[in-house]
Amino acid sequence: MSKKIVNRQVAITELSKLSSQFVIVENPSYIHPNYDIFPLVKKNKTPFNKVIATVMDMDGTTTTTEVLCIHSLEYMVRAISGKLAKSEWNGLNHVKDYPNIIGNSTTKHVEYLLNSYGSMIIKSEAQSAFIKAAIWTLIKGKDVGRKNEVKNNLIALGLNELLFDKRIIQFQSARPDENKYLEFIKYAVRKYSKFVKLNQKEDSVRMGIDIYYQRYHEILERLLRGESQKIISELSLEKGKHLIEPLPAVGIFLAFVKGLLGKDASKLSKYIAETKLKKNPKSKINIEKLSNHLENLGTHFQNKPMKIAVVTSSISYEADIVLGEVFKVIQNEIKTWQLPTAKRKKLIERFSDHNRFYDAVITASDSSEIRLKPHRDLYSIALNKLSIPIIDFDKVIGFEDSESGLIAMRAAGIGNCVAVPFTQTSGHNFKAASLIAKNGVADILVKF
Ligand SMILES: [Mg+2]
Repeated sequence: MSKKIVNRQVAITELSKLSSQFVIVENPSYIHPNYDIFPLVKKNKTPFNKVIATVMDMDGTTTTTEVLCIHSLEYMVRAISGKLAKSEWNGLNHVKDYPNIIGNSTTKHVEYLLNSYGSMIIKSEAQSAFIKAAIWTLIKGKDVGRKNEVKNNLIALGLNELLFDKRIIQFQSARPDENKYLEFIKYAVRKYSKFVKLNQKEDSVRMGIDIYYQRYHEILERLLRGESQKIISELSLEKGKHLIEPLPAVGIFLAFVKGLLGKDASKLSKYIAETKLKKNPKSKINIEKLSNHLENLGTHFQNKPMKIAVVTSSISYEADIVLGEVFKVIQNEIKTWQLPTAKRKKLIERFSDHNRFYDAVITASDSSEIRLKPHRDLYSIALNKLSIPIIDFDKVIGFEDSESGLIAMRAAGIGNCVAVPFTQTSGHNFKAASLIAKNGVADILVKF
């Protein structure tokens, strides 16, 4: 259709040709208009062996990182209110808060938290927390995009002078030792705090976003330095686990659909049954039947491997570290799979680099903060990168743990979308899904 401006009536007529179901998505508060309406493709359930491509969310679907994101959001509220201890504030509420801080853009998550907990802000605490976060990002942060956003936010919040402080310029090119760094932070908080203007809601959102990212990226940097066990105990996370690991059966699922298992897939029936039983002890599984089924499916995918993309609202800096960790853990898992030694070796080799394994890795850095899930963009980019023609969109299966993600898929034209509820997203509304796999991706391998 050529570009033309139409009146309301024509718009309604044209829109109603697109779908019988629409979604209303609220935009960040600085966007005009304050919401968008877009059509959703009809739900469908394609038989698993007809599917030619898989698109999969990262946080909460492929990996356990959602816990770290939630921690960093909660930390942001603590930092701006000065209530760092649990005795001062109990923290975020699973039922009320989690559905609003998972699966959307960081801007929307922070906006929600400031609407809910903004009354707790203590101005001086917020000002110093922002300065600390900004300085960390500029001096110690690794992501160029983040550094540029922080520079922009410093100017927007009235801190031009800090941005051009002699030492900050010097430290960005030659990182100082820890003592000098801490000394500079103290000095900067003392000198510049009073200039941080938090007049409008948007100012607080900028500040909150920078504090959130700083916390999350500091954790990722520490993880890379091998401090993951220390972080687990500091954050009181479940001991004996990895800070970042794949969700149950994700490694097997990926190996399956990439056609790496072939007939040997039947040998994994016990492993898959156990994964399923761990999540749902009441499941009834006939191992022999499952073995035959897996053998057929393994052979099918060996002949016709699927294309696969990971699609995340995290930025590429985060996705690179997170997927790197996930693949390391999968490589270790493979050592325990009951497969011939040569096959295991080959699998470990294939899982040595996530960028080589996936046909496409789509992150927030491929789009813009204002077009992340539930907008369709990341999934549309993924379908294009996988070179799937529109006529084949019904042969794509998508996996998401959040309501926003499911809506984004259906907005991008993927009708076969599976909800894989994660502990943190069990409170989400999954009406947008064509199927809910309560036991994760293992369900899909067993059912179809
Ligand atoms: Mg997710």
